Amino acid sequence: MSAFVLAIPEIESAKEKKYSFAIAPQWLREAMEDTDFGAAETPGSLDLVARSMGHDILTEGRAVATLRVPCARCNEEIDWPVDVAFTQLFVPRGAYREQHEDEEVELTPEDLERETYVGDEIVLDTIVRENLILEVPMTPRCPDGCADPTIAEYLDRPREEKKGALAGLLDLKDQLPSAKPSKGKKDN
Ligand SMILES: [Zn+2]
Repeated sequence: MSAFVLAIPEIESAKEKKYSFAIAPQWLREAMEDTDFGAAETPGSLDLVARSMGHDILTEGRAVATLRVPCARCNEEIDWPVDVAFTQLFVPRGAYREQHEDEEVELTPEDLERETYVGDEIVLDTIVRENLILEVPMTPRCPDGCADPTIAEYLDRPREEKKGALAGLLDLKDQLPSAKPSKGKKDN
């Protein structure tokens, strides 16, 4: 269900309207369902100003929320605070196309950033979701540092249990100080 809905007639009559929403953990959890992220239990906030510009609505918002993301190194879940500002222009669906139907204009980046609305409402849920996700880095890491658990666990094991791919490397390392340079073959 949509949580962040703006009523266009209200914005048009006021010309400018401020909104304050709470971002409920439940909403965040559902919004992140098809990602690797979850939601912390603390609610976030969405504050925005919507301005009426003819039939277009310009929104400037700030979303603050705490996601739960897996650490790229140790895979532990970390609470990841996100604070993101965004600006989004909404134009009525159809109107822009009608106005510009005969023009063969190439789409500018500005055009691509337009969203369209239908009817009397603007639903911001998708915009908020996308902005929050984009604020999480590709490889989030535990803020206080952490070790790769498989390597840490491996190194703690007694020597005789160390088998597998890394065991060969350890044997090689042991040989290095005493290894003699090879002199090459003598039969040529
Ligand atoms: Zn970590």
